[in-house]
Amino acid sequence: MSSSPNQFTKDFVRKLAHIAKKNLKIKDGDYQKNEIWYCGKCNMPMQIKSGDELLCISCHCVINEIKKHKEKMHSYDYEITKENLVKNAFYDINFKYVTFDKIPENDRNDEIVEYIQNFDKNTSKGLLINGSIRSGKTTIALCITNALLNRGFKCKYTNALRLHNDFIISKNQLLDDIRQFDLIIIDDFLDSHDLSNKFLISNMYQIVNSRFESNQPMIVVTSLPNVQMHSTNDLLIAKTFSKILLTCKELIFSRGK
Ligand SMILES: [Zn+2]
Repeated sequence: MSSSPNQFTKDFVRKLAHIAKKNLKIKDGDYQKNEIWYCGKCNMPMQIKSGDELLCISCHCVINEIKKHKEKMHSYDYEITKENLVKNAFYDINFKYVTFDKIPENDRNDEIVEYIQNFDKNTSKGLLINGSIRSGKTTIALCITNALLNRGFKCKYTNALRLHNDFIISKNQLLDDIRQFDLIIIDDFLDSHDLSNKFLISNMYQIVNSRFESNQPMIVVTSLPNVQMHSTNDLLIAKTFSKILLTCKELIFSRGK
């Protein structure tokens, strides 16, 4: 015969009480008042009466311990997530050390600081960072990447040649991969010596177009002079940069100015 709900509850409470008795940890300084144990540190009861049975409850000290443990686990999770973001962002792990606090204040452009602060993966435009060789473009691009990784965004820092090689291995895989990132940063994008490489230009166009069509921001870093970007001699280059300029704000860099 099955037991009545009342009996079931009683049995259940008895079982709990039995477990509670085993789990009750009396420390030095704890004391008993009317059968019930109290914490000697916070003076909160460590037990509660349920019918004839005594059940365990958490005093303030235990609640605080649990809270601290949860916070610790939360910050641990955050570190793990950040570590993964960094690992997926760079092909050279040393790039994670290129951060704004290590570059001269003169190189910290207000527009870039504002860009990082207001970055939103769904609404932000991209950037076209343009400047001569050794104008510090790569450093700035890495600083932006690190600052946004720090804000929890999925970023990918790469360069045109790497994308080109991956594109050759598997076009679909690459286009799928780059869509997984909130922001993609393409360094060394079609510099002057690349202009005769039609295959590279065509692949870069498709990558830019894929970002453009999915409405996802990109940062393009180039040292290509403005006049060559808009040259009508090569329509594919002009088309590629016109797509970039539709979705990116242009920032010109020149060192020592
Ligand atoms: Zn306590």
